[in-house]
Amino acid sequence: MVRAFSGPPTSPPPETSFDRHEHEWEPTNEGPIIEDGAAIFLEQCRYAVTKTVDMGKYGLEDIVVGPECDETRSYRFELANIGRVLPSGERITYLASEFDRFSHLPLDDIIVDIEMKGDVVDVDPDRDSGTVRVEYENWRAEYRAKHNPQSDPYPIF
Ligand SMILES: [Zn+2]
Repeated sequence: MVRAFSGPPTSPPPETSFDRHEHEWEPTNEGPIIEDGAAIFLEQCRYAVTKTVDMGKYGLEDIVVGPECDETRSYRFELANIGRVLPSGERITYLASEFDRFSHLPLDDIIVDIEMKGDVVDVDPDRDSGTVRVEYENWRAEYRAKHNPQSDPYPIF
């Protein structure tokens, strides 16, 4: 008769609800961070072990009684184009994919200026279709989500 060998009993460490939790991502207050040709969004897990306490006339409240998750993650939009308004009022857009064609312009320096000194004027943080626009003087940089690529072949500023 053959018996299945059963090794010594193992006892894995007890799992807690904290170990099993699915991260509950939400945006942090800062952001997006604009640097190096990208708009970067940070998200933080807001999960914490809580207990529901009856606060009497104030109703039920969840209070933190255990560890809080401090995991973070980020996602980024790449620079899609920069544009400017000429003194004549004409608008021009330089596609990031075509920056090489404009080697007579200090586009790298302009991008640094926009990213260091500009104002974020428009934010749609949607991971798939979002856009971020940053303006500095008569320049504007536009950053797009991966699934929202630059597709306009002509000036669109
Ligand atoms: Zn978490």
